[in-house]
Amino acid sequence: MEYVEPKVFLVGETRIIEDGLKAYLKHVGVEDWSTDAPSDSEHLCEMMGRLCYRSFEPGLNPNVKRIREGNAPYLAHILDVGHGSVLEHPVLNFVFADVSRVFTHELVRHRVGTAMSQESLRFVRLDKLSAYAPMHIKENEEGMEIFAETMEQLEQVQAKLAKVYQIDDEKKFDRKKKLTSAFRRVAPIGLATAIGWSCNFRSLRHVIEMRTEPSAEEEIRLVFGKVYDIVKDRYPNLMGDYEVETVDDLPWVKTSHRKV
Ligand SMILES: Cc1cc2nc3c(=O)[nH]c(=O)nc-3n(C[C@H](O)[C@H](O)[C@H](O)COP(=O)(O)OP(=O)(O)OC[C@H]3O[C@@H](n4cnc5c(N)ncnc54)[C@H](O)[C@@H]3O)c2cc1C
Repeated sequence: MEYVEPKVFLVGETRIIEDGLKAYLKHVGVEDWSTDAPSDSEHLCEMMGRLCYRSFEPGLNPNVKRIREGNAPYLAHILDVGHGSVLEHPVLNFVFADVSRVFTHELVRHRVGTAMSQESLRFVRLDKLSAYAPMHIKENEEGMEIFAETMEQLEQVQAKLAKVYQIDDEKKFDRKKKLTSAFRRVAPIGLATAIGWSCNFRSLRHVIEMRTEPSAEEEIRLVFGKVYDIVKDRYPNLMGDYEVETVDDLPWVKTSHRKV
């Protein structure tokens, strides 16, 4: 049995197709429009937002005499007025590894604007168990021993079942799958596993806000604190309105533009 820390990997993000964007800008009559967006995601949000009012330059829409110049002020205004739908265009792709099934079960409650691919414990057989030890367990030595002993016993249970059912000698994959699926029923929900999670920026902001709050569970607070650390510098104009307060040694990521 091994102790592990949850890990966050940002593995993908939305990309602008320059030729396509240029062709659209030409079509709408502002071929030379450009922006100082620090990322393609922020570029795309600004462009989709400006499309709504044709506010690429003054007079393109005769009703629009003044425009907000620059990506930062433009997106700050979007957050101020709560036009969050513009933030649904770009998507981020994360992998969360060494996270428990406690964490993944909470994560998948967030349905809107998200996609998930979860490690299958029907197919992936448990042998060595690993787990995150929560801080409230760690602070008591006796409690920590009980935690470790239980995990080790449950790891042995997996080995015993594998032996009793001779799964290593089994040739039929279908039976192996059924046995693997049956064995997982006596595994702890604290075991470390992995989940791929994609989301748009509107959903990302909502989940960071909800899941770093002190009332949320420790592990999900830890993971979304790490998520915030990755995205705050990479997408400053979409994520720059947050402030962080540390509560119980974990970040509480707060904003006055909640749930845009
Ligand atoms: C501290 C904490 C404790 C929790 N405890 C429990 C618990 O004890 N038991 C439990 O079951 N869950 C619990 N949850 C989960 C919680 O109830 C939500 O299911 C979860 O946080 C998903 O958030 P969401 O509802 O905002 O959905 P998301 O999928 O993140 O949706 C985002 C937003 O879209 C809108 N939306 C989504 N779906 C619909 C819909 N069908 N119809 C209309 N509007 C929609 C809502 O405005 C929603 O807030 C807890 C969550 C937290 C943060």
